[in-house]
Amino acid sequence: MSSGQPTLSAFAGVDIPNYDVITNCMHCALCLPTCPTYVLTGLEKSSPRGRIRLIKAVADGDLPITDGFIREMNFCLDCQACETACPAGVKYGSLVEAARAQIYQGRRERWLSSTIKRTALNWAFRNQERLKSIARFLRFYERSGLKGFLLRTGLLKFVSRRLHDIQPLTPAISKRFSSDSLAEVIHPVGDVHYRVGFLTGCIMDVAFSEVNLDTVRLLLHHGCEVVIPRDQACCGSLQAHNGDMIAARQMARHNIQLFDRGDFDYIVMNSAGCGAFMKEYGHQFADDPELRPRAERISEKVRDITEFLMETGFRPRRTASEKSVAPSGRSFDGKRVTYHDACHLVHTQKISQQPRQLLKMIPGIDLVELPESTWCCGSAGIYNIVHFADAMKLLDRKIENIKKIQPDIIVTGNPGCLVQIQHGLQKEGLAIDLQHTATFLWRACEDPQAA
Ligand code: SF4
Ligand code: SF4
Repeated sequence: MSSGQPTLSAFAGVDIPNYDVITNCMHCALCLPTCPTYVLTGLEKSSPRGRIRLIKAVADGDLPITDGFIREMNFCLDCQACETACPAGVKYGSLVEAARAQIYQGRRERWLSSTIKRTALNWAFRNQERLKSIARFLRFYERSGLKGFLLRTGLLKFVSRRLHDIQPLTPAISKRFSSDSLAEVIHPVGDVHYRVGFLTGCIMDVAFSEVNLDTVRLLLHHGCEVVIPRDQACCGSLQAHNGDMIAARQMARHNIQLFDRGDFDYIVMNSAGCGAFMKEYGHQFADDPELRPRAERISEKVRDITEFLMETGFRPRRTASEKSVAPSGRSFDGKRVTYHDACHLVHTQKISQQPRQLLKMIPGIDLVELPESTWCCGSAGIYNIVHFADAMKLLDRKIENIKKIQPDIIVTGNPGCLVQIQHGLQKEGLAIDLQHTATFLWRACEDPQAA
């Protein structure tokens, strides 16, 4: 090993998990056709196998951390499709995240990318009240008409082309944040079957407040007592995926202490990335004898909403002979419904059957499989902001697949996918209803008398 080179396993006290998995790679290339960045470029260095070679070279001290290395680590979507394809069980996601952690820690990125990440992730998302203040300002910006004016006239591109491009990718801010609407403890009407902790999240709280409310409604309908601990932190996933492991661990530590006090049967999530990362809390604190047992306890209780409902025997109230009616009174009968797999559900959490099984329970709908449903839509956390052009190519591919089956409704389980796909539908002028899985399920099983 050459002297002076940082090694991945030595980063910031974080034990790089399964360093051996790097050497497990058999170079078989089975992952290559499943990798969006390899398919975009045809370049070995932009494939999982190529990146594993680069990471190993840096970890062994044979290669310095160059601009090219940083570019490849950041060009990766961290979608983990390669993990699903790999017959050797290579844990690619933890490798690329370790590499990014070392890049972030060494402040080796270009100024603009580094500033976006440090400002957006470390400062804005660090504190729930701070994020809500920023969201209130953005809501004012939207409602004042300024956002619409800048979009219509294209004036923003004279200030910054990038700001102009990414502006449609900022989600609309909710009228009221879910953490302000929901009580700390909410009881179901009938018997309590489960005591469930619920993370309102960061983006989910301020931009998908209604999805959070629909999730809680579903849980109450399913006999859950829902507890929303006050003073929650962001789960830390956005920070971890972008290399800021120190901030990610601080947020995780806070949530572990908070949720462990709740004595919950389950902790339910409705955001794929948050669920995936909270399931990793035990692993993140494997080196901390005091926190590790509590972190593992939290991870064992975490379930995606679809996973929880299937595991605990959820049944929509309606029977197959009844019609499903949306709150508007519009029937779901005969609607073509399709499902887009969020990467951190299907590849990271291996959840693909549960949402489909739940959708199949809804009477009257025509469930149609989306071609390449597990192919990343290009959202990938903040990827569509920092890699706008590549993200749009992936989005175009997703939209082409959607056009092939012409659904009435698309269902998915992650806020980033909702924003990205909605942008694609709007660009193409497609009038297709896009819903979070929890919203669709709640609308499908809701009492029509209450609608
Ligand atoms: S995580 Fe996704 S983009 Fe990155 S190497 Fe694997 S398949 Fe390719
Ligand atoms: S599929 Fe697995 S073993 Fe084969 S090249 Fe990809 S990472 Fe290596």
